[in-house]
This record gives sequence, structure tokens and C-alpha cells, in this order.
Amino acid sequence: MYIVSVLIEHGINRLSQPFSYLSKKEVVKGVRVRVIFNHQKLIGYSLKCQYTSLSAKELALRDGFRYNYIQEVIDEKPLLNDELVALSESMSKLYITSQIVCLQAMLPKTLKPKTVKTVTIKYQKAARVIRIGEGKTKTQNALYQYLSTPGTHFIKDLPFSSSPLNGLVEQGLVEIYDQEIKRQPQIAKVKQDCVVLTKSQQDIVNQILEKKERISLIHGVTGSGKTEIYLALTKNMISKGKNVIMLVPEIALTPMMVAIFKQRFGDDVAIFHSRLSEGERYDEYRRIANGEVHIVVGARSAIFAPLKNIGLIILDEEHDASYKQESAPRYTTLTIAKMRALYHHANIVLGSATPSVESYARALKGVYDLYELPERINKKPLPAYTIVDMANEAKAKHYGLMSRLMEERLKTTLAKGEQAILLLNKRGYASFVKCEDCGEVVKCPHCDVTLTYHKNDDSLKCHYCGFSIPMITQCPHCHSTMLKKIGIGTQRIEEELQKKFKDAKVIRYDYDTTRNKNDHMRLLEAFKKQEGNILLGTQMIAKGLDFENVTFVGVLNADLTLAIPDYRSSERTFQLLAQVGGRSGRGEKSGTVVIQTYNPTHYAIVDGAKADYQHFYKKEMEFRKMAYYPPYCHLVALSIQGKNDKNVEKAANDIRQYLDAHLQHVRMLGPAKLTIFKMQDIYRMRIIIKYRKSDELYQVLNQLDHYYNHKNGKVTLVYDFHPYTTI
Ligand code: ADP
Ligand code: ZN
Ligand code: ZN
Repeated sequence: MYIVSVLIEHGINRLSQPFSYLSKKEVVKGVRVRVIFNHQKLIGYSLKCQYTSLSAKELALRDGFRYNYIQEVIDEKPLLNDELVALSESMSKLYITSQIVCLQAMLPKTLKPKTVKTVTIKYQKAARVIRIGEGKTKTQNALYQYLSTPGTHFIKDLPFSSSPLNGLVEQGLVEIYDQEIKRQPQIAKVKQDCVVLTKSQQDIVNQILEKKERISLIHGVTGSGKTEIYLALTKNMISKGKNVIMLVPEIALTPMMVAIFKQRFGDDVAIFHSRLSEGERYDEYRRIANGEVHIVVGARSAIFAPLKNIGLIILDEEHDASYKQESAPRYTTLTIAKMRALYHHANIVLGSATPSVESYARALKGVYDLYELPERINKKPLPAYTIVDMANEAKAKHYGLMSRLMEERLKTTLAKGEQAILLLNKRGYASFVKCEDCGEVVKCPHCDVTLTYHKNDDSLKCHYCGFSIPMITQCPHCHSTMLKKIGIGTQRIEEELQKKFKDAKVIRYDYDTTRNKNDHMRLLEAFKKQEGNILLGTQMIAKGLDFENVTFVGVLNADLTLAIPDYRSSERTFQLLAQVGGRSGRGEKSGTVVIQTYNPTHYAIVDGAKADYQHFYKKEMEFRKMAYYPPYCHLVALSIQGKNDKNVEKAANDIRQYLDAHLQHVRMLGPAKLTIFKMQDIYRMRIIIKYRKSDELYQVLNQLDHYYNHKNGKVTLVYDFHPYTTI
């Protein structure tokens, strides 16, 4: 008899311990199994399997209860290797969450312990020679010769008609069979010639290659040639028989980087990001697990690729928010990268034009190695920028969304046949509906947010929970019909642009136009092929895009991120402006940038416009020091959540008191209601703990976790270590 330890997916936190089941046959570690738990049929994940000479009866006598049998073993081979299983265990301790949640985060959806979905393997008919002989006709012989050449010969690709093929099959010389085809994700096209590295690029490559188990930060302005450094490092790793994980921020950048890596390394690259279909993801996962590729390119979750023998992990645009997973287990990609690098004795390379101040501070302190690339490859200066004070526009009685300068620049750019990028800093700027009589705004009944008006289907939607109703004609409060749509969405700007610039073709790139799998790539490629003159979008367009013919970038409202009451809001504003500005004038022609703001002297805006990282860094560090925020401390956000607001408030106050009594070396903020207090009918409060050493902290947090998440039942406690925002 075998005793199998099984992790079960059930609720979020409540079952973090494995349960024991019996099996007559040995069950390998790391496969999914079907079990009965509490009269429910559930899927679990086998962690351990031990032989015992005792029978089921003897075990029941010894332990005082009867064990259940495993119902079925789902997978033939383990889904994860030992390294990754051990990693899930460390993660679960680090983030105070159950191990099964960590396993979930690692696996492609189709392989997650909670699903049993299997992906169908696709086949296509192919023909092959099975006997030596000769055909009856000339064409049959030609086909026979053709099929004798090496490789797979799919029937649909044969340069012959079906009759000679049928003839050969009838004579038993050739057979038709089903050949498995692997789904190959669609790849963007790039024009990329192999380049000779500049001296500064080569120096950085050489120095990094000499390092062992180090983290390097490459701070290089946009267009300084960081990507070529990643490619050269990767090539070198492969030549040494080592494997590479190349991480890029989610969505906008992934297709570009994937295309570049595919072009240089061909089939040696597997792709990993959320826009792949489940089938594609499953195939790519298998290619990695089977050791068929040496390089994995992808977004955040690619850090869990079951790649062996890793020599290098690269995080491009290391400051990007998408490297933080906002749902459980709320990991930071760099933390996971460090754990994997330690296991494989690998190096880590971080790259950015606007590193997070935390990373830059570490690099200056010598914790990371710092490399600077202050110039663009073609020695092109960064684009000339102008900051427009929108208060002056209003004084001059010019009330449009676009300042006079912005309109002027757009006009000349289009007249010259060049392209423009317009950025609308969107959060909170989506249109909402307000009653002109009673002043109420129309809110989601499940969340504390306004409903957003969608023109295409004349509806009101909640962007947080998906709640949706047809556009209303009466105010829900006073029944007045005086309803007004307020706010600026990309749709409205598109309309205004079309009115002002009749011949311009606008490509709108936002949440609504990029919902389908290949939309991102299609829109960006269309813009690259100059099928549009203006690319209008939200934050998504700011990053890493490289379009030669773009000579003008306009930011419609630079202030929005600044207004968010969060310790990173200046940093985010700076990054956004510096990044989007870098999109202008990347090719032969020089570019310009116009930034519209109501805070024309704020350091984040001025330094962002100039892309003056050093000045921004100095200012920002002064603020972080004064307000005691990272890198001067670490943060963990505790959020207390529940269906009853009174219970949530009481628990939050109790917890704060408990923390005050048990933690000596921390500072705390809160409890405070989250900016959106109610979301999906759950009330949420938050306590922020600022700490430097984690020893005493973990002990206390584990106690709280034990009490609230396993016993109390009225509220749930969620820990967010190194939260990306604190609002
Ligand atoms: P970054 O990643 O820093 O934004 P890239 O690596 O994309 O910069 O380089 C910007 C442009 O310069 C790209 O078009 C790239 O092909 C080109 N480039 C990079 N390195 C070289 C080089 N050594 N010689 C010629 N062109 C280069
Ligand atoms: Zn009203
Ligand atoms: Zn809602």
C-alpha cells in the first residue's frame, strides 16, 4: 500500500496542508489526482508517495480513521520538476499563502490542479514511403521520389494531385498517416539585421559574462541598444549549453521582443504570455518541459518556465508594473528570478531607461552592478520637448482637449507624411454619467466606482466587476432626465481628431480595441506599415515600441497619474513621460514632444519631459527618505476583507492593536478604507507596515493568518508583500 500526500485546491487559504490518501499503485510526485474530500470530488496535486507494509485496515486501526483511496491519476508524467515544486514551497512561506495557490500560478491554465481539461492534440494528414518499389506512371515515380526525401510531407502541401498518390497507396508503396502538428503562435514580423555591437555594448556584454550569480542593471536611454545586448548575452549562453529566460512586460512589448528573438534563434525559442490560446500555451509548455528549446521569451509568468540549466534571466523594462502579480500569490517577478538564479547559479540582467528608484539605489550601493548607456545608438539627441501649461490655454479662451501648439504640431507632422503618437493618461478619465439636477453620478451597485459609458453598444459598464446595463434615460436617484456624459475617453478624442484632421487615419489602441488575442499585434503592425497617421492610446502605447516614422508625440493629460495618492505616483508619471517621449524621432528624422499639464513645474513632469533620470532620482529619493518609503524600508500591505462592513472595520482595528503590541521595529499606516472600499460586494480596509527586518514580522503575520484565515471566518486577511501601489 502507498500513502500519497495530496494538496487540494479548495477555497483560498484554508487547506494549505497536504492530505493523505491511499493508492495500491505507486503515484509519481507532481501529477494531478482525483480525490474525494468532504463528499466532494476534487482535483489535487500529489506531493509525496510513501510505501507502507500496513494494510488499509491496519492503517485505520493505527491512526484512528479510515483513509480514502485516490480515485484516479490524471497525468502520466509529472507537471513540474523538483526545482519548481521546491520553489512553490518557498513561495508559500514567503508570501504567507497556500502552496497550491503558488502551484496554480506556475502552471498554464489547462494544467492547473483545479482543471482536468485536456487540450486536443491537432493532427494533419501526411504521406510517407513504406516499401521500396516503383510506381506505374511517370508522375507516380516523381511523387515517390519526392516522398523519399527527408522531412514530413503534409498532403495539403504536396506539389502533386491526388491521383498519383492514391495509385501509390493502392500499390502499398506509400501510406497516409496522421502527423501531430504543434500550434505555433503567430509572430509579428520585424526587419532585423545582425549588427556589430558598439564598443560600449560589447564592454557591457563582456563584463556581465565574467560575473557569477550577480544582478546587473543596465540603465540605457531608449534606443541605446539594450536589446542587442540581451541578444548577444543569449547567444553566448546558448553556445555554452546554458538556457535563457527573457522577460518583457505584458502585452504591448511581448510581440516585438518575441519576433526579434524568433528571428535570431528560430525554433530554439518558446513563447509564454497571456494572449496565447490555451492550446498554444500547452504546446509551448510541453516544448519547454521536453527540453526542445533553450530560450523562453515571455511576460511575468514565463519566470516559472520549466526550463532546466538556466544560465541567465533577463528582465527588460524592469520597472514595469506588470512584473508584480496583483492576484494571489502576489509575487514580485524579480524575487522569483532571484530564487531560480540561486538554484541554477545563474546571472540576472535588469534593463530600463527609467529604472525603479529601488533598483537604482541598490545598483549605486553596489548590491547590483550598474552599467550606463547614456546615448542612443545613432547618436540622435532625444526629442525636443515643450511643456504646455493648460491653465494658460484656458486663460486664452482655448478650451479644446488639444492645446494650440498640439494642434499645430499634429498638422505639420501629418503634412510632412510623418506619424504621430497621442497618449491619453486614462485611469479615471473614462466617461461617466452625471445627473444635472441632483448631482449624483451613476455608480456600480457592487463596487464604489462610477460606471463607464460605452458608446459602441450604448451601455454602462463597471470596469472592476463587469456589471453592465443599457444606458439609462432617468436618474436612478431623482428620476430627472437631465443626464450628462462627462469625461474624456479615447473614443471621444478619436472623434475630435477626425473632425479636425479630416484626412488623418487614426488607429485607436486601448482596452476596447485590443480585447482579442491578436489585436495588439495587428494594430501595431498596421501602424508600422503606415496604414494610420496617428496612434491614439492609453499607457499601453508608451512602452518600448519602435516606429521609424514617428516624429511627434503628444501627451494630452500628464497630470493624472500624479494626482493618485500613492507613494509611487511621481515615479510613474516620470516613467510614463520619459518612455513615451522616447518614441519620437527614433529613425532618421528628429522628433518633438508636447506635454499638456496643469503642473508645469513639478519635478516628475519637468524631468520626465527631459528624460533627466539623474535629477529625478535625486528628488525622488529625498521624498522617499522624508516620507519613509522604499528603498528606505520594505512594505507589506494587509488587507482585511469581508461581506459585512462593520466586521471588516472591527477586525481592522483589532489587528492594528495586535500589531502595535507585538511589533517593535516597524512603522504603520492605517487601517484605512481602500480608495474603492467596496468591490464586488466585498468591503476592504488596509494596514501598511513599513519594515526593515522581517524576522519578527513573519511570526506575527503567521499568527494573524492562522487566526483570521483558518478560524475566525468573518473576514479574510490578504497579504501583499512589496505592493506596487498602496491605495
Ligand atoms: P533599446 O532596447 O535600448 O531601446 P535597441 O536595442 O532596440 O535599444 O536599439 C535601438 C535601435 O538601434 C534598434 O533599431 C537596433 O537595431 C539598433 N542597434 C542596436 N545596436 C546596434 C549596433 N551595435 N549597430 C547598429 N544598430 C544597432
Ligand atoms: Zn438625479
Ligand atoms: Zn462593479
